[in-house]
Amino acid sequence: MLTLVEINLAMTSNNQSVDILVIGAGPSGCVAASIANQRGYSVKVVERSAFPRFVIGESLLPKCMADLEEAGFLEVLKAQNYQEKHGAKFIKGDKECLFDFGEQYTDGWKWTWQVPRDHFDNVLATEVQKMGVDVSFEHSVKAISFEGSTSTTTITDKDGEDYTVTAKYVIDSSGYGRVLPRLLDLEKKLDSPARKAIFTQLTDTARPEGSAGKQITFVIHKVDVWMWVIPFSNGKTSVGFVGNSDYIESFKGTKDERILQMIADVPQMADRFRDQSLQMDSHQIEAYAVAAKQLYGPGYVITGNSSEFIDPIFSSGVTFATQSGLLAAKLACDEMDGKQVDWEGTYAAHLRQGVDTFRTYVTSWYDGSLQDIFFYTSDEDLNPTNKKMKRQICSVLAGYVWDKTNPFVKKHEKAIKSLAKVVQMAS
Ligand SMILES: Cc1cc2nc3c(=O)[nH]c(=O)nc-3n(C[C@H](O)[C@H](O)[C@H](O)COP(=O)(O)OP(=O)(O)OC[C@H]3O[C@@H](n4cnc5c(N)ncnc54)[C@H](O)[C@@H]3O)c2cc1C
Repeated sequence: MLTLVEINLAMTSNNQSVDILVIGAGPSGCVAASIANQRGYSVKVVERSAFPRFVIGESLLPKCMADLEEAGFLEVLKAQNYQEKHGAKFIKGDKECLFDFGEQYTDGWKWTWQVPRDHFDNVLATEVQKMGVDVSFEHSVKAISFEGSTSTTTITDKDGEDYTVTAKYVIDSSGYGRVLPRLLDLEKKLDSPARKAIFTQLTDTARPEGSAGKQITFVIHKVDVWMWVIPFSNGKTSVGFVGNSDYIESFKGTKDERILQMIADVPQMADRFRDQSLQMDSHQIEAYAVAAKQLYGPGYVITGNSSEFIDPIFSSGVTFATQSGLLAAKLACDEMDGKQVDWEGTYAAHLRQGVDTFRTYVTSWYDGSLQDIFFYTSDEDLNPTNKKMKRQICSVLAGYVWDKTNPFVKKHEKAIKSLAKVVQMAS
């Protein structure tokens, strides 16, 4: 472990030396940096943008709360008065399906937040700085080389000057930047259908009264086109559409004009947003589903979106980001403590378990079978089996995709397929 004097000396040249270099100050990087700092290792975070910066991903899952707590962020986040999220509502035609996290199967947090990410991520990064970690904004990683497990990373600072950082471990939490997958040729092609997303934020003065107006709502507009509505406590609401390219591209004009036309095309939401004004430039993205061939190697580990991202439908991105950042930092510290670390079994297999579970739900969402389950109306209240299954599915939607006592996690594919078959036959 480096002493403060050694770090200061190292920082005077254009080569710095730290125990752990974290790339990216999003939720994954901040959680990783905080954990490594708690363990007493010297940590530096390099972040390409100036904060606050916009990033999509505003609806969290209860599962990430324990990670945020362990990383020491909970109190400062509570003080921000973000909109609490206690469940999620899905609407299709005139049918509604509500999942209440208070009625989930797995023990753990039963609520979370809906957050403007520019604000949320800035709170996390500022807190990391307060913990004493060096966070360098507008510093971008451009190259990396390894000698054994020791890395030398070349970084360009905001004045365009290059410097290097020697580190015992690099945690790549660069999100959509995907620094190590690109530099180490680890990018993996996914054969998922090319979907697009277009999104913005609006005023929302015609919110329904009470909890309905504060609730995250998903409207299924077509089987493979859905809309999200995420109200924030600052009065603005995030609205986005995800779906097949043909639908998204069938609207003409600027991005702002197109998303307003799309909202007007959704009967369940058109009135609410008719007279509202845009609060930011609309964004459109595509090809956001990504994966990496390898998540770890000598002296490095890849976390969060830089490792894998499937689809936004179940708001799982930030939860994977915090969970992987937390675990990666703990294991890297264990290894530097001299312990034997089974990266494959403890890290890669853990992430795969979560990703594969969500993949089943995403796939069955877009083929319509999960929607059949969600909107199956039966004498549910009279049937305790249905209630139990709903609680088990609710836990998955709350992010508890590692609870193997839940049959909808343990045998996720079989459980969803069988239930969909029963529901389809009964409908
Ligand atoms: C349409 C859509 C909707 C989504 N909705 C949700 C949602 O509701 N809930 C949810 O949980 N997730 C959602 N997501 C996913 C979410 O955006 C990501 O999973 C989440 O932001 C990942 O966090 P992260 O910390 O891994 O990366 P990020 O938050 O992307 O942070 C990575 C950081 O790394 C920095 N960086 C990049 N390159 C470099 C470089 N070369 N050098 C230095 N720094 C660099 C970036 O500037 C950035 O600040 C959505 C995704 C999409 C596509």
